[in-house]
Amino acid sequence: MTAPAFSTSRAPVLEVFSSVQGEGAFVGEAQVFVRLAGCPLRCRWCDTPESWPVRGGPARIFGAEGEREEEPWASPFQVLTWILAAEPREPRTISLTGGEPLAWPGFVAGLARVKGPRRLHLETAGGHPESLAAVLDGVDHVSLDLKLPEDMRAPVPLAVQGPEGEQPWGEASPASSEDWELARRRCLTLVADHDACAKLIVAGDQPARAFLPLLEDVARLAPRLPVYLQPVTPTAGVPAPSAQLLTEVHEDARDLGLRARVVPQIHRALGIP
Ligand code: SF4
Repeated sequence: MTAPAFSTSRAPVLEVFSSVQGEGAFVGEAQVFVRLAGCPLRCRWCDTPESWPVRGGPARIFGAEGEREEEPWASPFQVLTWILAAEPREPRTISLTGGEPLAWPGFVAGLARVKGPRRLHLETAGGHPESLAAVLDGVDHVSLDLKLPEDMRAPVPLAVQGPEGEQPWGEASPASSEDWELARRRCLTLVADHDACAKLIVAGDQPARAFLPLLEDVARLAPRLPVYLQPVTPTAGVPAPSAQLLTEVHEDARDLGLRARVVPQIHRALGIP
């Protein structure tokens, strides 16, 4: 198979740091986080809007020697050296997050090649199935967001250029309910037999029935996928769900035969990065 022609293997890095995974299947595990800049999506409850633009720097590296700043546009090998500086002692699982890391699939594929014994986990919004397909073989675990179209504002083109002409790969982002449905179904099909989980953010102002189409897609296309129901951390006026709403969504998932668990963001609750 011919390798996809990625536009660049470098990506804009916002920060590299060690912490405890606060969400999903590996909650509580010590990991090293690589956060890339750039996201064309606009979730109304986004808790990292500082990752939306590609501003050109700097990248902040939090290592044993303290914090330092670097040029943001980095190759996978450069980022590996930052990971080594950030992870105390033995190699940790890398959580590649954003922003939307799939804006930079060449970088993801490159990091998979140089990472050594560490596992590579990818956090993605699930809006870019072509990019996901291009990197999936190199990724050890995918945490796939399932998003309600009602939770999204119109996407914004990532029109950026790095110092050597680097650009995002440019897969179109979903812009309508129909687009989101197609992207979701293609992503679920891709990860159905992969090490992966689905994450569903539950906001308090949506009825339980709004989540049913997403859960039904998982049950039909990736029935073995664990599903994590994550109560939204109140952000930008989006309210937390009631216990009753969470219970209803959980019961709907169980009725569909899914392995669903309710897991809040523990790093937000505990105030850790
Ligand atoms: S995909 Fe992630 S970074 Fe982008 S807007 Fe949504 S929550 Fe924020």
